[in-house]
Amino acid sequence: MPPLIAIVGRPNVGKSTLFNRLAGKGLAIVHDAPGVTRDRHYADTHLFGRDLVLVDTGGFDPDSDDPMQQGIARQVELAIREADVVLCVLDATLAPTAADRETVGLLRRSEKPVVYVANKADNPRAELESNELYALGVERVVPISALHGRGLAELEAALAKVVPPEEAIEPPSDDAPPRVALVGRPNAGKSSLFNWLAGSARSLVDHRPGTTRDAIDQRVEHGGHAFTIVDTAGIRRKSRVDRGVEAESVMRSIKAVGRADVVILMCDAAEGVAEQDARLLTLCAERGRAIVVGLNKVDLLRTRKERDAAEERARDELRFARWAPIVRTSAKTGEGIDDLMQTAWRAAEEYRRRVPTGELNRFFEQVLSTHPPPTHGGRAPRIYYVTQAETSPPVFVAMSNAPESIKDSYKRFVVGQLRKAFGFESVPVMVRYRRKSRREPG
Ligand code: GDP
Repeated sequence: MPPLIAIVGRPNVGKSTLFNRLAGKGLAIVHDAPGVTRDRHYADTHLFGRDLVLVDTGGFDPDSDDPMQQGIARQVELAIREADVVLCVLDATLAPTAADRETVGLLRRSEKPVVYVANKADNPRAELESNELYALGVERVVPISALHGRGLAELEAALAKVVPPEEAIEPPSDDAPPRVALVGRPNAGKSSLFNWLAGSARSLVDHRPGTTRDAIDQRVEHGGHAFTIVDTAGIRRKSRVDRGVEAESVMRSIKAVGRADVVILMCDAAEGVAEQDARLLTLCAERGRAIVVGLNKVDLLRTRKERDAAEERARDELRFARWAPIVRTSAKTGEGIDDLMQTAWRAAEEYRRRVPTGELNRFFEQVLSTHPPPTHGGRAPRIYYVTQAETSPPVFVAMSNAPESIKDSYKRFVVGQLRKAFGFESVPVMVRYRRKSRREPG
């Protein structure tokens, strides 16, 4: 599980420029989902030989009218709580402001590793001016120019010194209970579901900030199956602002999803499934997790027509991962929770499932003889055989004489066939196409 670096700072110091610069070529937009990959404020990236997740906390809600959301203190507190390292961006060309002092004060009281940078040090003169920032009482300020790419090597070296080692996540074993992350917007009903599953007494731990250790996992049983609910501290920890900030659910989700096999994405059916839910879904799907959507609070929808309409809207908003099953639930009355957890259990099985090569090939021989890949660009691509290269999540490899000549529509067809034949309903299924000439030995 890669460490999470949160970028904080006042508006206009250049946080997003720095975010984009650091994300750089590491920013792999795997999926092309219009409206979802836009406004992206987190990125999986690779710097100084390490996998990292970068989050631009200031990038969320930039147009918000809510002073709390604009407030830097909130951003910084969030970063201190959720991130492994805080990257604090200051302005090299300005004397320290009151907001800077407040920020540095908060950061110094925390125990999080912090790297301070003076951005906009575009030239030697600005770099010299940045020395004024030492008045803030920090040990080191790295002068950089995010715009012109100056000082980035020094910044990376400073980060490399403080980034903690990667947290090892055991591969899921067959007999261990599946690890489940409860993800969703604030107020979707995550804690209610968790309380329902855990039984009220045990989960009523105190809500005071800072008293719960991060990432506490709890074992629960439901319908005869055991599950480990990961990062329950994050579920219990209530946001001070009720409406909550998107950055918070994103950072929490990144951490929880990283430790899970199955994600239960809780959505509020009464409020309606919307873009922020779709962004969380994208985050989970990109991380290759099995996903079950809990369309929660259906008790508030009285008529069947209302419920159907809510589900239809959810299917539309969540079309990016069309395969993810949607289960109607009420964490208040308990309706649908049996179904939700049965579905989560099946999802965990699919996540770990390995299809024997013999079975795959018997199946594909038939598919390929009745529906061979169509001729494309004058070539007739052939698929020789398919193997499952990985589980958790399932990844298949198809050997072909001309992988580049296989159309996307045919690739989608292959994924659909795999899903149908081998029952992969709640997991992302990936097929990689590799070149192999006919004469090469297998
Ligand atoms: P979280 O922020 O996702 O953990 O959401 P909570 O579990 O704290 O729920 C937010 C609010 O919605 C609380 O007032 C819950 O009582 C309420 N709530 C949660 N689930 C349901 C549900 O299924 N039906 C109804 N009517 N209310 C719910």
